[in-house]
Amino acid sequence: MSVVIWCIATLIVLGAILYRGASLRAFTLGTIVMLAIGSLFGLFAYVPWIIAAVILVPFNLGFIRKNILAKRILSVYRKIMPEMSQTEREALEAGTVWWDGEVFRGKPNWKKLHAIPASKLTAEEQAFIDGPCDEVCTMLDDWYATHELADMPEHVWQYLKDNKFFAMIIKKEYGGLEFSAYAQSRVLQKLSGHSTILASTVGVPNSLGPGELLQLYGTKEQQDHYLPRLATGEDIPCFALTSPEAGSDAGAIPDTGIVCKGQWEGEEVLGIRLNFNKRYITLAPIATVVGLAFKMYDPEGLIGDQEDIGITCALLPRDIAGMEIGRRHLPLNVPFHNGPIRGTDVFIPMSFIIGGQAMAGKGWRMLMECLSVGRVITLPSNSAGGAKSIALVTGAYSRIRRQFKLPIGKMEGVEEAMARIGGNAYLMDAVTKFSTTGLDIGEKPSVISAISKYHMTEKLRQVMNDAMDIHGGKGICLGPNNYLGRGYQGTPVAITVEGANILTRSLMIYGQGAIRCHPFVLEEMNAAAIKGKEGLARFDKALFGHIGFVFSNFVRSLWFGVGGARFTSAPANDSTAQYYRMMTRFSSNLALMSDVAMGVLGGELKRRERLSARLGDMLSYLFIGSAILKRFEDDGRPAEDLPLMHWAMQDSLRKLQESQLEFLENFGAIGSALKVMMYPFGRIVKAPSDKLGHQISRILMEPNAARTRLGEGQFLSEKGPFGYVEAVLRDIIAVEPLHDKVQKAAGERLSFTRLHEIGLRGKELGVLNDEEVALFKRAEEGRLRVINVDDFAPEDLLAGPTAHQWGRDNS
Ligand SMILES: Cc1cc2nc3c(=O)[nH]c(=O)nc-3n(C[C@H](O)[C@H](O)[C@H](O)COP(=O)(O)OP(=O)(O)OC[C@H]3O[C@@H](n4cnc5c(N)ncnc54)[C@H](O)[C@@H]3O)c2cc1C
Repeated sequence: MSVVIWCIATLIVLGAILYRGASLRAFTLGTIVMLAIGSLFGLFAYVPWIIAAVILVPFNLGFIRKNILAKRILSVYRKIMPEMSQTEREALEAGTVWWDGEVFRGKPNWKKLHAIPASKLTAEEQAFIDGPCDEVCTMLDDWYATHELADMPEHVWQYLKDNKFFAMIIKKEYGGLEFSAYAQSRVLQKLSGHSTILASTVGVPNSLGPGELLQLYGTKEQQDHYLPRLATGEDIPCFALTSPEAGSDAGAIPDTGIVCKGQWEGEEVLGIRLNFNKRYITLAPIATVVGLAFKMYDPEGLIGDQEDIGITCALLPRDIAGMEIGRRHLPLNVPFHNGPIRGTDVFIPMSFIIGGQAMAGKGWRMLMECLSVGRVITLPSNSAGGAKSIALVTGAYSRIRRQFKLPIGKMEGVEEAMARIGGNAYLMDAVTKFSTTGLDIGEKPSVISAISKYHMTEKLRQVMNDAMDIHGGKGICLGPNNYLGRGYQGTPVAITVEGANILTRSLMIYGQGAIRCHPFVLEEMNAAAIKGKEGLARFDKALFGHIGFVFSNFVRSLWFGVGGARFTSAPANDSTAQYYRMMTRFSSNLALMSDVAMGVLGGELKRRERLSARLGDMLSYLFIGSAILKRFEDDGRPAEDLPLMHWAMQDSLRKLQESQLEFLENFGAIGSALKVMMYPFGRIVKAPSDKLGHQISRILMEPNAARTRLGEGQFLSEKGPFGYVEAVLRDIIAVEPLHDKVQKAAGERLSFTRLHEIGLRGKELGVLNDEEVALFKRAEEGRLRVINVDDFAPEDLLAGPTAHQWGRDNS
């Protein structure tokens, strides 16, 4: 054996040990075996043994490693670690790590993904979605509500209350529905596919709000009093956190609560004097109970020796003295109730704190924990539901609407936009299904909630824009015939609420993900905060585990870069196998880039938001890709869905790849070196092909199994606009071959307009029967109703007077 062969063999053996992420002991053993083989073949004497011993002995001897290496590193670490505020720490510690951790750590276990049970609806949940959900959609005319009433009609409100739409999260023992997260998601999908005002109104009380806070933290008395009233709609809740001066930086609210004595129901009691100014509060104008977040202080030491107690949440009845409530904001012409709440010297007894006095100062943590659950459900589900209905209606419209004598959906340019709509709708359903499954198996995944919120609302914005482009003027001219405009107008609301999207992408996804999902970073931080031997022992364990983790991901990324990814295992041997392999490769890359970024930039990474955002995109698309593959698997790998699945995977992997390349290209010399290592042959993922786009357009433009699955659970009754367009599509498709028959009999090309006349002509020519003539008539009526837009008498468009104009007070 020559030295060269030995060197290669040693690299392979040690590389394989690192690739598998084996322990320091296994690595040391591997080194000894290879050195022994070299000595046995007489390749060298002692020098390699001495080098190996110098490197490996200090690491293997716990005493030296801990008391010399780890101790020194710990003291530097403590100096450079950025200070973490209490609110940051509480946000970080809230919730759990789930599949986000698996894809962050470089080696996703795909069998584990497949083993996660798919969520299913109970008979009761299904009956609710088929029954009351359909009924309320039928009852609500979105245009009437948004344009004429600026509210939902009273009978719709009553129906929602009577059928407990506001009580999906409330436990049965309190009279609620206690639906699974998945069922709540399906309810919201159906409602949002019909009306944004409906979905927003139902979404909020079931998301972050007093109901959830009370169930988790309320005292028994508070639960017994409020939960049954919230379940029946006797009480309508809102939750007020945002202030004019504190939006994204909600931890900085200037609203105060001073502990003091005051009069309550004729007696002097210990309580809190509140001064606050809140805005943008959903349901506030009609709320009967207000959840309020404020900063609590005890300057006179009435309840202890701590003056600054921290953010606290309390429940205030609407009619409490000193509170102004009832005025409305107008959120982009989707007039769900939203408005300001102000309070001056409002006195509340201590018992109004959610959870009682014991929970004073724990408000931020409570909010963070609840937010991680609600944020997985409401906005992502509303977005997915909107996208599913839009995919169907746009496919139908593009078959019904003709220009240049062709259905517009057959134009290649339109196909491109249609592919994005169909692929994204498939992806969004997959993500909401997967992430709500996480909630139903007991997770509170805070990082996944940020991923879902950001990406689903952004994808809805893309779907909306594409649908508006395809619909042309039909989407623009508002009126009862326009089924898109209000949803389009309302899209930025979802972008802004529950963590504005720029902030969520730049700061939250990776900021939390890096620390929560990393196998060692949080433990290093926690250990560094502990003084003495215990802190050092924990830091030593985490630090050296971390170093092994970095080496492992380095070897894996190197190996995958030169083509080794094709030898990794995948849980399938069909066309999805390539995606599992690429995801494994990208996951190892992310783990390495992440450690390099944290190692080089330390706390500065938090301020380098563009880098942090790209690392967040990598984590997000690994999660999204997993959700797509999981959906395809759980659906039974239906062949008809392949174009949708392929588009969604290819688009996601391409975005993942671009975020890696952009990160590396903006990370100086280290980034350039890593780029050579990770992408030695350039890009590996191509954009979805034109052919795939064409196939998706075909799926969307006519009834078929893939299309039915795509729109599953949406409100498609002919009583609503989306269902009506579906019915017209069926008629148009039935007329098309008959139209050809008439053309043939007439011996001329006939336009696809004035279908009723063509029907009569077919009868004269003896090629159509009465039933077919009636079909032509119905199809023409439907066609015109679908392509026509509304017009109004000028006075019908005048809104009533308002007190203010720009720079002028009219009151
Ligand atoms: C219709 C509607 C309903 C709402 N409902 C409620 C409710 O029921 N209860 C409640 O308490 N609040 C509610 N909100 C408030 C909502 O949560 C806030 O609007 C949101 O937190 C953003 O605050 P802001 O609008 O003041 O934007 P700002 O905080 O002023 O942000 C402006 C922009 O700066 C970006 N930005 C800010 N900081 C950073 C950063 N560090 N890095 C990168 N980008 C950053 C943001 O992403 C955003 O794009 C609602 C808002 C609206 C519009």
